Amino acid sequence: MSESHEEELLKIVEVSEAKTCPCGNNHRSHYVSQIGEYTGWGWFWVLFGVTTEPVRVKFVCRKCQTIVGVSEDKRILRRDV
Ligand SMILES: [Zn+2]
Repeated sequence: MSESHEEELLKIVEVSEAKTCPCGNNHRSHYVSQIGEYTGWGWFWVLFGVTTEPVRVKFVCRKCQTIVGVSEDKRILRRDV
């Protein structure tokens, strides 16, 4: 997936609890990682190498570990995060 596609996706996905962290990053920042959250069974399948959809994606600043947003948008969940 190209960089520009990624940026386009981040413009359209629904992000709740969106905010800016102390270092000034938001969910579209390059310093922010997307971390998928799985249900207990989701993790189980991930251990066996089975691709599963996370229940939500957290956007976490890599500098200060602040969560700058949470998304349950299917368009971002279906991507590999
Ligand atoms: Zn930060």
